[in-house]
Amino acid sequence: MLIGGELVASESGEWIDSVDPATEEVIGRIPNGDARDVARAVEAADRAWAAWNGIGVAARAEALRAFGRKMLERAEELLEVEVRDTGNTIAPMRGDVRTGVEGMNYYAGLAYELKGDTIPATPGNLHFTTREPYGVVARIVPFNHPVMFATARTAAALMAGNSVVVKPPETSSLSALILSEIARDALPPGVFNIVTGTGAGAGAPLVRHPGVKRIAFIGSVETGMAIQRMAAESAVKHVTLELGGKNPLIAFPDVDPATVIDAAIAGMNFSWQGQSCGSTSRLLLHESIHDDVVAGLVERIRAIRVGDPMDPASQMGAINSKGQYDKVLRHIANAREDGARLLAGGGRPEGEEFRKGFWVQPTLFGDVEQSMRIAQQEVFGPVLSVMKWSTLDQAITIANATDLGLTASIYANNIDDAFAAARRVRSGYVWINSVGPHYPAMPYGGMKNSGTGREEGIEEMLSYTEQKAYNLAMRK
Ligand code: NAD
Repeated sequence: MLIGGELVASESGEWIDSVDPATEEVIGRIPNGDARDVARAVEAADRAWAAWNGIGVAARAEALRAFGRKMLERAEELLEVEVRDTGNTIAPMRGDVRTGVEGMNYYAGLAYELKGDTIPATPGNLHFTTREPYGVVARIVPFNHPVMFATARTAAALMAGNSVVVKPPETSSLSALILSEIARDALPPGVFNIVTGTGAGAGAPLVRHPGVKRIAFIGSVETGMAIQRMAAESAVKHVTLELGGKNPLIAFPDVDPATVIDAAIAGMNFSWQGQSCGSTSRLLLHESIHDDVVAGLVERIRAIRVGDPMDPASQMGAINSKGQYDKVLRHIANAREDGARLLAGGGRPEGEEFRKGFWVQPTLFGDVEQSMRIAQQEVFGPVLSVMKWSTLDQAITIANATDLGLTASIYANNIDDAFAAARRVRSGYVWINSVGPHYPAMPYGGMKNSGTGREEGIEEMLSYTEQKAYNLAMRK
């Protein structure tokens, strides 16, 4: 772990094994941090932030760029550790390190946007605002993209003059141990701290710590709600949440079925086993193209090459952990029990190489009804559900009939249909005739239970500041 600029073990002296989900082999271990380590990290962060803020925006921006350069120097090592520790396939994971570096550079470039306003509140006096950092920011990271979230999603807080305490995911924290070394060398002591450990052991004390005013969380709805409760019980805090999705891809009748099939595959993010908050896991097909799309999709899903995440030819790897694997299988069993029609996958792939490890075939369910659990609950796995609609109203009703509202994708050649649907879906991030990419500077985040707040744009940086209002009485 990194606390106050030093690489340390946990106070308890305990460790957590990190398991390669493709083989179930122990490939490393991480300190099992607890409330004592959290307290030390918050104290170190609290000592560091004022000086960090004091060096000014240009110097902070340069430090963030240096952080990015050091990440690039160790990109291959970060990539390999991340792939073996998460089970995500190697070729697309290259993008994660790059996104981390780009995040550092993007917020460094926004340095001079940390500005206030002058406000004409009265004719004779001067009224203006400045933006100040909160001080210590907690950043809690999920297991699907640990390096990317620990870097791209701390850059804004750091640029705004805060120090951070990062809590990586306990099943995939090995890359954070490399980041500890990078941060130690790139930033002043205490500005960037990393405390590994479990959610209950390290995450909860971090949320509750009175020295942490600002909490930024990416993870499940359940944990997000627990964090809001814990935060509210301990102090008045600013909490932002990036949570789950059960995202619709709505395909209109004028779209070529082959295009819809490509989009459905791309939208599922099989490269990381569907473990993506933005995955379009509900495919809403107009009845006139339904059968053609489903027939083609079954073939394509069966052809997805599942295999060793380190093999660049693999198109899908292993589920992140035993806990997650059991959850995915439970969702599949529930769908079958509720009467959804299993069209592809549904179990473990066959073959000697899949005897050990947390493997699930890419899975497709047809005849899914909105009342079924598979239509409502986020699987966070490689499971796609197909639903049918005949009118626009019906499509929108289905699309909006969950508690979640993160992303949506609309495929339509008629621009009026496309915009009518895009405007009516209750989702924070909408693609029209594309699916999946996050675009630079575009605010990302969810409506309804998918979260509060927006990240990835300038709003994220400003969300790590509070305004101070100055009123200068002019005596002449
Ligand atoms: P999770 O909620 O189980 O865990 C996320 C993090 O929270 C981990 O570091 C964990 O240790 C920590 N944690 C767990 N309990 C805690 C507690 N009581 N107090 C404080 N911290 C605690 O989520 P996960 O399984 O790691 O990630 C999957 C979820 O993340 C999915 O729901 C997915 O949709 C969501 N996600 C959302 C986004 C987004 O941008 N909206 C991005 C990626 C993932």
